[in-house]
Amino acid sequence: MSAWEANVRRVEPYVPGEQPKEKNIIKLNTNENPYPPSPRVLAKAVELEKLRLYPDDKATLLVDEIAGYHGLKNSQVFVGVGSDDVLAMAFMTFFNSSKNILFPDITYSFYDVWAELLGIPYERPELDETFNIKAEDYYKENGGVVIANPNAPTGIARPLSFIEDIVKHNQDVVVIVDEAYVDFGGESSLPLIDTYDNLLVVRTFSKSRSMAGLRIGYAMGSEKLIKYMSDVKFSYNSYTMNMPSIILGAESLKDDEYFKETVAKVVATREWFKQEIEGLGFKVLPSSTNFLFITHEKISAKEIFEKAREEKIFVRYFNKPRIDNYLRVTIGTDDEMKAFLELLKKIV
Ligand SMILES: *Cc1c(COP(=O)(O)O)cnc(C)c1O
Repeated sequence: MSAWEANVRRVEPYVPGEQPKEKNIIKLNTNENPYPPSPRVLAKAVELEKLRLYPDDKATLLVDEIAGYHGLKNSQVFVGVGSDDVLAMAFMTFFNSSKNILFPDITYSFYDVWAELLGIPYERPELDETFNIKAEDYYKENGGVVIANPNAPTGIARPLSFIEDIVKHNQDVVVIVDEAYVDFGGESSLPLIDTYDNLLVVRTFSKSRSMAGLRIGYAMGSEKLIKYMSDVKFSYNSYTMNMPSIILGAESLKDDEYFKETVAKVVATREWFKQEIEGLGFKVLPSSTNFLFITHEKISAKEIFEKAREEKIFVRYFNKPRIDNYLRVTIGTDDEMKAFLELLKKIV
């Protein structure tokens, strides 16, 4: 080992779902939206000549549009390069206690990666046997709380009252609620931010808004929380939001009808597909998201995963304790789900 290697920050990186390069595949592995962004977004071409300029460091156009959409002040909105960037900034800003931060053992697998990277101590209370969060686990002293609601990869959503109970018990730390999937059927914690100045609600354009490729995420909370996050962000990199993201992200919010229509289509496909596979002996967790978390009574998840892959259908398999016999299946178009259903019928 070279001497300089002794001073390298060693981390175990997050492993994103596979992005296959092959053509003619059915991609149900990273929870993207099967429908394109609003036609308004596609029509709003960004003049390439403008790209010689730096973007607006405050992303005003986008921030104002988000604030208007949710009925907030623009000082209550923080934007970032996908919610991954927003969440990482929030961890960096708010979790500087020597006490453990808390998040479930089964949840978005980036939380522990950030905690490791930033040297934040953490503890992961176990979900119960039905994969639900036990509120009491979050009553003890801690350095912060992170809850994905709906949770991933389970798909399970808890009501506002449940989240409020956790926030009530944690008014001395920052509580982050990651609402990446809330548009598909969850109940948002947003109404609580006026009451609790320590509550940060994080959203993304990647799933319900069909814009994973642009990388837009945002956080909403008290002006105080947002100010602290902005100070950290501007101490690190001022120009994170690129010009196309600012312009096209703002445009997307202007087409609420299209947004609601595509979300409703995904939800309808989800419910149809769930019924079909339950008929094949699959156990399907109740989903309020654009994916289903499924397991079969007889055939192993790994076997289904591999067989599907051979047929160029990509789903997500996690080789992790407690969930290694489950598959996370993103809801695609009706045709994509029919193709997957036919394959499952053959396998079963
Ligand atoms: C997809 C996802 C994110 C990150 O999404 P971005 O594309 O970075 O906005 C964050 N949290 C959860 C729970 C997710 O599933």
